[in-house]
Amino acid sequence: MIAHHFTIDVEEYFQVSAFESRVARSAWERLESRVVGEVARLLELLARHEARATFFVLGWVAERQVELIRTIAHAGHEVASHGWDHARVTHQTPLQFRESIRRSKGVLEDITGAPVLGFRAPSFSIVRGREWALDILIEEGYRYDSSLFPVRRPGYGYAGGRPDPHWLARPAGSIAEIPPTTLHWCGLHVPAAGGAYLRLLPYGVVRAGLRQCERRGVPGTFYVHPWELDPAQPRVDVSWLTRVRHYGGLRWTAQRLERLLTEFRFTLVRDTVAALLDARVVDRKRSVGVYSAPAAEAVW
Ligand SMILES: [Zn+2]
Repeated sequence: MIAHHFTIDVEEYFQVSAFESRVARSAWERLESRVVGEVARLLELLARHEARATFFVLGWVAERQVELIRTIAHAGHEVASHGWDHARVTHQTPLQFRESIRRSKGVLEDITGAPVLGFRAPSFSIVRGREWALDILIEEGYRYDSSLFPVRRPGYGYAGGRPDPHWLARPAGSIAEIPPTTLHWCGLHVPAAGGAYLRLLPYGVVRAGLRQCERRGVPGTFYVHPWELDPAQPRVDVSWLTRVRHYGGLRWTAQRLERLLTEFRFTLVRDTVAALLDARVVDRKRSVGVYSAPAAEAVW
């Protein structure tokens, strides 16, 4: 039975990119923090289903919630990086990006005492033309990325990207890419990875996406945010569309996660990356030459 990836982008409800124009970073300190209670609900849910998850944590949150990050790690989950303050890669210079991922890695490693191997860009913002971020991740010691969402969406998405875990050969070296899951349907790649898609689309879309992964013999990657389990979070005055995307279906999230955790098995992304590394070693011994393959060749 394939074990998929249950991933969580740990951030406060007011840090989402869609609220950027409404909630200034300078106001963050004054807003009510709700992430501890929200993550506690997720940890209880995961423990009850004996599932292990990968938490991509903002450095800003980790610095203020040290005990929470320790609790996540002690429960056997993986702690990875979501950058420092939710700045999107599309809004950063290479230097700003490097500082953000170096600082968050350092803080998370100091707290957990374990290496941080993975990164997910805020709002999947490693888009075409921003691949330099992958080189910086390699240079800063990251082993995998989970930011290339192979869909076409305004503001994000890596259209044409491979849908399954694979190695990316870059000028700085190689890095494993663990893309969020898409459902292949009528020639389209439909986002089926979680988040708003879990809340606003029928549950069957996410399930079908993961079942397709199983038929291909690869793990799928699901994601959710702590604030998606918090229907009582304070409301921010935003446009109608943003309201639907952020607040729509919040009351379904918990029961849909229960169902997902009942129907599927989940493991850590770092375990998949270790398996990918083994596959690459085997492949090199056979002289198949994964490194000589085109830049985005899958080895799974
Ligand atoms: Zn985020």
